[in-house]
Amino acid sequence: MALDNLRVDALVVGGGIAGMQAALDLADQGYQVALVERDASIGGKMIALSKVFPTLDCCSCITTPKMSAVAHHANIHLFTYCEVQSLRGNGDGFVSQVLKKPRYVYEDLCTGCRQCEYACPVDLPAAFDLGLGAHRAIRVPFSTAVPQYAVLDIENCLLCGKCERVCPVSAVDFTQSAQTFEIETSAIVLATGYELTPTDAKQEYGGGQLPNVVDALVVERLLAPTGPYGHVLRPGDGKEPDSIAYVQCAGSRDQTLGVEYCSRVCCMYAIKQAMLLSGALPLADITIYYMDIRTFGKGYEQFYQNAQAMGIEFVKGKVAKITEDKDRNPVVRVELMEEDAQVVERTHDLVVLSVGMRPAYNPQAMYGVSVAEDDGFVEVLSPNMAPCVTSRPGLFVTGTAAGPMDIVDSIVMAGAAAAEVAAYLEARRAPRPVGDLGVTAGAERELAHA
Ligand SMILES: Cc1cc2nc3c(=O)[nH]c(=O)nc-3n(C[C@H](O)[C@H](O)[C@H](O)COP(=O)(O)OP(=O)(O)OC[C@H]3O[C@@H](n4cnc5c(N)ncnc54)[C@H](O)[C@@H]3O)c2cc1C
Ligand code: SF4
Ligand code: SF4
Repeated sequence: MALDNLRVDALVVGGGIAGMQAALDLADQGYQVALVERDASIGGKMIALSKVFPTLDCCSCITTPKMSAVAHHANIHLFTYCEVQSLRGNGDGFVSQVLKKPRYVYEDLCTGCRQCEYACPVDLPAAFDLGLGAHRAIRVPFSTAVPQYAVLDIENCLLCGKCERVCPVSAVDFTQSAQTFEIETSAIVLATGYELTPTDAKQEYGGGQLPNVVDALVVERLLAPTGPYGHVLRPGDGKEPDSIAYVQCAGSRDQTLGVEYCSRVCCMYAIKQAMLLSGALPLADITIYYMDIRTFGKGYEQFYQNAQAMGIEFVKGKVAKITEDKDRNPVVRVELMEEDAQVVERTHDLVVLSVGMRPAYNPQAMYGVSVAEDDGFVEVLSPNMAPCVTSRPGLFVTGTAAGPMDIVDSIVMAGAAAAEVAAYLEARRAPRPVGDLGVTAGAERELAHA
């Protein structure tokens, strides 16, 4: 069945927390919004986290209601497993051609009952659990996915037909192919988020080579109630770790990696994880090796002090190298910065690299917005006064697509982007005589002085 083209007020690209919030804020004001997410579920990185700093709220508990609100909002048209393929101006706005990737499952029939998943004989490393657990070739992406439709990995499918035979509503179709449709819109919000700086980028830290050196997202999954093991076990051999170390700035503030900026969230997530690990493994020793601790937000410094009071050890030093002993325990070589620059070696059961953030997507070629030369994040015209307004009229940015930030700031920025989009849409409906940059009056004033 061919997909219908659509006309909306605003298109939001990316369904992480920033994109979801921007879509909801616009839809609540009565605007028609299309949200296009490339993955099979919305939720972005946030839905994979365990708990959030500084409140330690359960991440699933606070993210899933937002995901449902997006899926059920009368003014939001949600398109998952879709990507914008091309964009053109139509004189009055934009026309996006969207590719709908085949799920090999009819969305209008699938009830998310998972019978197909239980019947499928193929086990694959589970992407959502970063390869720690397994999932089937056909599966609902993860337990709290929105929407709850199965998706089939045709590359790894045996075409044995077991899923097709067991599906109670005949939703599986191995012949499904990609489809395209168009979305016409007046404004676009880029909310394409971030990816982690590669764990193996700093070869001397052993990420990707030493089995008990992992990145911090792995620990989020180990700590999450929906995680792969239901317990914190080190991936190398399944042992419960008694000594865990964090290495800060393991992918940020480093010229050799081309990531000169601070990723802002790593100090706070390391402190959070250290606290959660103290709860999960009360006898474990936890050490954080750092150069500076940056606790920039409201209540964050207190959070840090609470961690110190809990007995988490903070060691100011520069980690030079991580090797392993004969039992595959990581050995950290560190130059202490407060004790006559002594170099010491300490052995831990598990080392966590506090990797940083870099842009997940470069929209420059397709969307015609500029990205910063030094870090690749979407550039805005006036970072202080109009932080969501890009170089191209009608194109806005929010969340970590604009630069490293935490969830609170992503949500605040999503609200700001929605306000800018609303002002832009209203200005077009009742055009102002002069100086119409199509942003809020405040932003327009500031841009005039920028
Ligand atoms: C280990 C770790 C722990 C953290 N813990 C915390 C915490 O406790 N508290 C806190 O405040 N912050 C925490 N953060 C930061 C938090 O993850 C981010 O602030 C937040 O997820 C940013 O949301 P976002 O929507 O900007 O990006 P994302 O979550 O990356 O969402 C972007 C979405 O866009 C989609 N997308 C990308 N490109 C395209 C495209 N071309 N087309 C369509 N869709 C696309 C992606 O698939 C994704 O769904 C943590 C980060 C890490 C790494
Ligand atoms: S494809 Fe069929 S069996 Fe699988 S989740 Fe959907 S309805 Fe259930
Ligand atoms: S046909 Fe493919 S997806 Fe379906 S059960 Fe067999 S291997 Fe799994």
